[in-house]
Amino acid sequence: MLRSLGENLYRWRKMLLIPATVAGLVVGANWTGIFEPVELLTFDQFFRWRSQEDSSFLKLPEKVDPRMVIVTIDESDIITLKKWPLPDGKLAQLINIIKKENPRVIGLNIFRDFPIAPGTEALNDVFSNTPNLIGIEKVIGDAIQPPPILSQSKQVGFVDLVLDNDGKIRRDLLSITSEKFGQKLSFSLTLALTYLKQENIIPTLNHSSQNEDEIIIGKAHLFPLDKNAGNYVNIDNGGYQILLNYRGGEKSFQTISILDVLSQQYPDNLFHDRLVLIGGTAASIQPSLLTPYNQSYPTSGTIIQANAISQILSAALDDRPLLKVWSDPLEWVWILTWTTIGMFTTYFIFNRNSFQYNTIIKWSVFIVSNSGLGLLLIGGSYLLFLKGWWVPTITPLIAIIGSSMIVMVDKWKYLATVDSLTQVHNRFYFDKILEQTWLLNQLSRRKTSLILCDIDHFKQYNDTYGHPAGDRCLKQVAQAIRIAIRGTDFVARYGGEEFAIILPKTDSKEARKVALRILRKTKFLKIEHSRSSTSDYVTLSCGVSSLRLEDQSSAKTLIDQADIALYKAKEQGRNRVISYDSLLVSEN
Ligand code: GH3
Ligand code: MG
Ligand code: MG
Repeated sequence: MLRSLGENLYRWRKMLLIPATVAGLVVGANWTGIFEPVELLTFDQFFRWRSQEDSSFLKLPEKVDPRMVIVTIDESDIITLKKWPLPDGKLAQLINIIKKENPRVIGLNIFRDFPIAPGTEALNDVFSNTPNLIGIEKVIGDAIQPPPILSQSKQVGFVDLVLDNDGKIRRDLLSITSEKFGQKLSFSLTLALTYLKQENIIPTLNHSSQNEDEIIIGKAHLFPLDKNAGNYVNIDNGGYQILLNYRGGEKSFQTISILDVLSQQYPDNLFHDRLVLIGGTAASIQPSLLTPYNQSYPTSGTIIQANAISQILSAALDDRPLLKVWSDPLEWVWILTWTTIGMFTTYFIFNRNSFQYNTIIKWSVFIVSNSGLGLLLIGGSYLLFLKGWWVPTITPLIAIIGSSMIVMVDKWKYLATVDSLTQVHNRFYFDKILEQTWLLNQLSRRKTSLILCDIDHFKQYNDTYGHPAGDRCLKQVAQAIRIAIRGTDFVARYGGEEFAIILPKTDSKEARKVALRILRKTKFLKIEHSRSSTSDYVTLSCGVSSLRLEDQSSAKTLIDQADIALYKAKEQGRNRVISYDSLLVSEN
């Protein structure tokens, strides 16, 4: 009882140690950044599953943002207009048409750092008389100046974007602070805040928050990304950055072509009280940018700005979430939990008796359950993504695979040490343990003992009751021996119907007691043996030897002496214990 409790404790400790170690290793490896690329690709896939344009089976389309209209300038528009950059006069005409419908705010995502005649005066006029018009500038690297008039009235935001290592845009830079110019807000944030002001929504710092940089805008809570936010590893998190919760590509927004606006062919009230974003979508006028959507079709900056604006509006006014990340400890718990589930699943499959003897069933169950677990993890991560959380997905998946493999290898290693019939250790493992024992004990003063047990008249038992009955008898005797020995002793099947027990730090007298207990427990089994000349029941003979193990030869001597003692026990009538030491005494 005590013994099995000890074995269980040992097993449980090992079972808890495996996931903890694997999760620890995976988290540690993650710090080097090796999982970041695959995590980002998974993240991208989540966006595509949710997108308007993607026709995947998990399609959960994002709604078109009703608050915004994009006036697009695409490749065919430029061909028709035959002029780029657009002259100031055309731009003034465009904005004046839009203004007639009283839009709430207009964003002009077209650089206008110097005048482009003709019509510069008309455009300057529009700039001076349109307080809800926001222009753009670029501030990082090669700066591009804003239109001077808009700059004076602070109707400007920057359009600088931050790229991930793979060149994709997954983050939104909301503000930058520098000694040179103080704090500047992004174009998208400026537009969103101008729009929200009319609903009396003004950004505030959340003073009650643990995170001193938390900003509240309506229903939205913003937290700046830190260097290792989510699945990122050591990103440049300068300024105030948040994740970009894309709505999608161009189809996720209401759009109208510049030509249709100039020729006034658009539905009534298209611009009324809306946020109108004017910008190029043609590849020739906008640098092509990579987003989670398109490996092959780069997106225009205007669409990225539209996404950045839209995510703030819909988070502030609706319940569409901004993307957030978990704290590191929470991510660790998440990874550890999956690792533990993975390990127990595999452990269960490889240790359940009903699967033990059918390899095909066992492996099928293993593959199906582990794949299922992987799908559950990916599905769970995707559901969390839909709720606005970016959590580790591939990292725990690798940890699941890792812990499953360890359990499997552990089981195989264990099976290689066990005798399949009697479930005690096998001869191969016995030799290994004996070697370890003498290595460990070579400096010790204590003796090591060995008991060799052999079932009496077992050949006759087989002849009388048949081989299957003989097998059952062997199992029962092995079990009796296990019960009889102490927690520190080690039993193995040494040969056909022979068992060997190593008793570390035990002298001959103690070992003899254990051997007698083995005999007694076997007798208690009361396995009938009608043809035994020794007893009515199955009995054992044991030889005991004790030595100080100093080297390999002393370990071999230990076996030889136990064997001699066992031979004597047989000779003297069986069903008894003989110590090699007592033979020496009697010979003297
Ligand atoms: P002794 O009392 O001198 O030990 O006589 P014995 O008959 O037990 O010894 P012997 O070595 O002549 O016979 C051992 C028998 O053990 C022979 C073999 O058939 C049987 N045996 C060995 N391994 C197995 C096994 O795995 N299953 C069964 N059923 N019998 C086994
Ligand atoms: Mg025998
Ligand atoms: Mg034998």
